[in-house]
Amino acid sequence: MALAAPACFVIGHPIAHSRSPLIHRHWMAEHDLAGSYERIDVAPEALPGFIARVRAGEFAGGNVTLPHKQAVMPLLDALTQAAAATGAVNTVFHQDGRLIGDNTDITGFLAHLDVTAPGWEARVKKAVILGAGGAAQAIGHGLLTRGASRLVIANRDATRAAMLAGVLGPQAEPCAWQARDEAAAGADLLVNATSLGMKGQLPLDIDLSGMAAGGIVYDIVYVPLETPLLEAARAKGLVAVDGLGMLLHQAAPGFARWFGVEPKVTPQLRALIEADIVVAAAKS
Ligand code: NDP
Repeated sequence: MALAAPACFVIGHPIAHSRSPLIHRHWMAEHDLAGSYERIDVAPEALPGFIARVRAGEFAGGNVTLPHKQAVMPLLDALTQAAAATGAVNTVFHQDGRLIGDNTDITGFLAHLDVTAPGWEARVKKAVILGAGGAAQAIGHGLLTRGASRLVIANRDATRAAMLAGVLGPQAEPCAWQARDEAAAGADLLVNATSLGMKGQLPLDIDLSGMAAGGIVYDIVYVPLETPLLEAARAKGLVAVDGLGMLLHQAAPGFARWFGVEPKVTPQLRALIEADIVVAAAKS
């Protein structure tokens, strides 16, 4: 059931770059829903005061981005399993008089993989995650919830790779960054969860030629839309999965909580955000 004119937000500092309003306002228009979704710049020292306003009912909920994803956690009443497992909150909503923090990156990552490479679980015996930051942790947890039996974590900072492997458990093993080509050999799924390949960053240097036939390469970087890693994967006949789909799918659970309507990730929504990325790239 649709709710009455919910007021929603995305908070961060800075926040001007966020594409979340485009996504949520598209869904509001598509479903003819009253309400609002605004970008709000909240400095770290203002976070407790802002969350108090949410608690008081001024907002139905919203999204939380850098630098507040961890800082917001002690200000909430409870966390979903996903938020507790990843140690980060990107979505806030009211439930039974309590303020709940969720992390929808896991759902977003898996939903886009399900759409782009259906049946992937049956063929993925060895998965490699490049990176050991917040996104890598969410992805590792997501793959484990779907029965992954072997996760190799390669990260520039070896200590962080070891820590993440420790958090993920016995199915996960750390790997030296310099050994990432060897790690990719025989892999059925390789995920780039570093910022390498993003516009303005260094490219990701990795040899995909040893990947298993029909292997899947998932790059969560989405600016540019087609990263050099995805181009290389397509050229080798591997299945390429882009980061924009993850961004769109991770927005859906929050919208459903605030507006009471399950939104769909459609080609029209994708085209809208793609166009925005292209325009922003042309300006910069
Ligand atoms: P973090 O800052 O938590 O982690 C960044 C990761 O990138 C670390 O593993 C870091 O390694 C690695 N890295 C950075 N620079 C280099 C480099 N020069 N060489 C090797 N590794 C490097 O970020 P997040 O985990 O939050 O995000 C990672 C990427 O994923 C970003 O590009 C972000 O935009 C994207 N993302 C996309 C989402 C989507 O919906 N598509 C959702 C979330 C994130 P080290 O530990 O050694 O510093």
